[in-house]
Amino acid sequence: MSFLQSLTDRERVFDFLIPASSPVDVRHGPILYLEDVTVSFDGFKAINDLNLTIDDGELRCIIGPNGAGKTTMMDIITGKTRPDRGSVWFGSRHNLLAMNEPDIASLGIGRKFQKPTVFEALTVFENLELAMAADKRILPTLTARMTGETRDRIEEVLVTIGLTELRQRPAGILSHGQKQWLEIGMLLMQRPRLLLVDEPVAGMTEQEMERTAELLTGLAGKGKQSVVVVEHDMGFVRSIARTVTVLHQGSVLAEGSMDQVSNDPKVVEVYLGADPDEEAA
Ligand code: ADP
Ligand code: MG
Repeated sequence: MSFLQSLTDRERVFDFLIPASSPVDVRHGPILYLEDVTVSFDGFKAINDLNLTIDDGELRCIIGPNGAGKTTMMDIITGKTRPDRGSVWFGSRHNLLAMNEPDIASLGIGRKFQKPTVFEALTVFENLELAMAADKRILPTLTARMTGETRDRIEEVLVTIGLTELRQRPAGILSHGQKQWLEIGMLLMQRPRLLLVDEPVAGMTEQEMERTAELLTGLAGKGKQSVVVVEHDMGFVRSIARTVTVLHQGSVLAEGSMDQVSNDPKVVEVYLGADPDEEAA
């Protein structure tokens, strides 16, 4: 029985009164729940009966060969792509398939794309300020007086992403890794509940990867964020992994600890047997 089916009628009957922007409800189960999700592009099933459950505060790694459907899965969660069938729920309250992309984002689902998209001419501080303003759907006026609350949040995020010292420098001078952290910081300004991160360590130095591992593991936790990381650097995945989900041909091929999945013959055959850097993207 799925967690949705386990809800009583009494708990669900007033759902229509709940505004879409109300907070995620994780009292009855997971923060993210995909059931039997399928999407085809020109007859090709990029996602095929996909089932995925992410618990509140969990850090989940998703691996899988190139074309496995990892990015398409994120597109479905964020409302960019509509599946042909299936269900996608954010907590027990929000049916994501009934919502559009901006509304899903404002629920507290933040997505980090592979390429950093910071504003290079603005300072690190101003980039964070801009991210906060965007949330309030007003045009950012960087000269306007900032609330103490915004300033406090920026300071907090600067510490989290390790860029306090560089706050007044233009983002353009940051290293590739620092830009990635700044972009994660921009997502954090809006206090998301779920972060989807696509290949965060591509192009990073060893040291930047270690720092990113600390950052992502520190973000995950109950009452903080749940974090879903798609990554094909296996060393990095091993360093942060709790539960790993292996996607293959749009479905879950295996799920478990890094050791469990990397010893699974099915996984070895489709993925780990090949050079991951050749095979995955
Ligand atoms: P991954 O991120 O795991 O490498 P993707 O989700 O990007 O895989 O792609 C899964 C499959 O779906 C690939 O074969 C890809 O070519 C196809 N695909 C993804 N998006 C589209 C689209 N918008 N139109 C057509 N085919 C697509
Ligand atoms: Mg991809």
